Amino acid sequence: MSDAFDLIVLGGGSGGIAGAIRAARHGARVAMLEPGNLGGTCVHVGCVPKKIMWLAADIAQTLAYARTYGFAVPDAVPLDWSALVARRQGYIDNARNAYLRRCHELGIELVPEYGRFDGPGRIVAGTRTLTAPHVLIATGGHSVLPALPGAALGIDSNGFFALRAAPRRVAIVGGGYIGVELAGVLRGLGSTVDLFVRGQRALPSFDAELGTHLADSMRAQGIGLHVASEVRAVERDGDGVRLQFSDDRAAHRADVLLWAIGRAPSAGALGLDRVGVRRSDSGHIVVDALQATNVPGIHAVGDVTTQPALTPAATATARGLADRLFGTAPGFVLDPDQVPTVVFSHPPTASVGLSEDDACARFGRGAVHAHRRSFRPMRGAIGGDEARTFLKLVCVGDDERVLGVHMHGAQVDEMLQGFAVALRAGARKADFDATLAIHPTAAEELVLMH
Ligand code: NDP
Repeated sequence: MSDAFDLIVLGGGSGGIAGAIRAARHGARVAMLEPGNLGGTCVHVGCVPKKIMWLAADIAQTLAYARTYGFAVPDAVPLDWSALVARRQGYIDNARNAYLRRCHELGIELVPEYGRFDGPGRIVAGTRTLTAPHVLIATGGHSVLPALPGAALGIDSNGFFALRAAPRRVAIVGGGYIGVELAGVLRGLGSTVDLFVRGQRALPSFDAELGTHLADSMRAQGIGLHVASEVRAVERDGDGVRLQFSDDRAAHRADVLLWAIGRAPSAGALGLDRVGVRRSDSGHIVVDALQATNVPGIHAVGDVTTQPALTPAATATARGLADRLFGTAPGFVLDPDQVPTVVFSHPPTASVGLSEDDACARFGRGAVHAHRRSFRPMRGAIGGDEARTFLKLVCVGDDERVLGVHMHGAQVDEMLQGFAVALRAGARKADFDATLAIHPTAAEELVLMH
């Protein structure tokens, strides 16, 4: 077995696999190092199992609606959590096996070792030293726990996926993607959920109005949303935990505490100092728009970098890099102003482009025009649900170029992709207005804001 390759990929998650496969398809000799499960966070403890749990919670809501539509659904429809987890695992196993088959077909050498730099282009992997002119770092990230007393009494998102039954009372700390998504899933599947965020709203990095509408939905769903809440300490309380806060409010008891306060890059043990790869203060690898680090021949993609920690960003940039290194195409380059993203809340929250505040900061308040719609979607309205859908366009300049689409409501997760294409194509508000509506849908409201 030769130890000389064209490309060594560190990490077999979404970004690493995408880069390895694209490079191999261009004819490169590729080694991919992954000591854990091929597929990484997204497949095993992230996007994929999360979406399955979200779908289960969505089905629970449909069952509740069904009665109001006249179906004879019993009041209580119990969920066999173990059966759901078994189904989920079957889906994940299929995804991992498909990746394995693809790598074998393309001759990618899978090395089940953690790699570490011995020098630029030299990677120590167990007893072997592999060499290649190009190394792609795609080692992802891991969740962080706060440095406060009793923090270890809580679980993280990995712990959520290890649950074998719905906890009765859950406290979640952190109002980003994971906190919001798991709050909705657990509430949808029957838990009593309290979400503690230390700022004034959940999803602080999204358009501010989405935070307001999300808060309304959460409260309607029965989630206790506690803003301006900073946990000071955690204590054991029988089988559960008790959260103490920085202010003088009463302690909060829960059966399970889930931390969702962000993730850190997994780059600490790669030997980056040895080769001089530059990292940000947060430890993320600094890359340019072409995924290059400051060291020639060392590239990085995904959550380990300063770029958005989103699977599609990792896969697209990894393929783009492989196209440039081993093919002839210019390859995909990430535009930070064109990142479509969905938070799988209940209902979902979807966003692409600039928030109104960001657009105002960049172009001046006078140049920015926001258009909004809020309405009760038909399915929920028939089901007696008061929940509203909120849609917002952020436009800039006299010709109202659309620079942001922000939505919260049923099915906006599936609506966003097409509108992201429109933004990329440079659509103006007039293009939206001149597009024929599809009736009756929620999406039509985006082309009827005139
Ligand atoms: P996020 O960065 O999204 O959110 C973390 C939140 O925790 C922030 O709102 C932050 O708020 C808060 N926080 C930080 N430190 C503390 C603390 N000590 N106490 C209380 N709150 C704190 O991280 P997540 O862990 O939710 O998700 C990690 C990343 O994974 C996401 O950014 C996203 O890129 C990706 N992801 C994507 C998903 C998707 O595409 N649907 C789903 C899940 C994850 P503050 O403003 O106060 O700092």
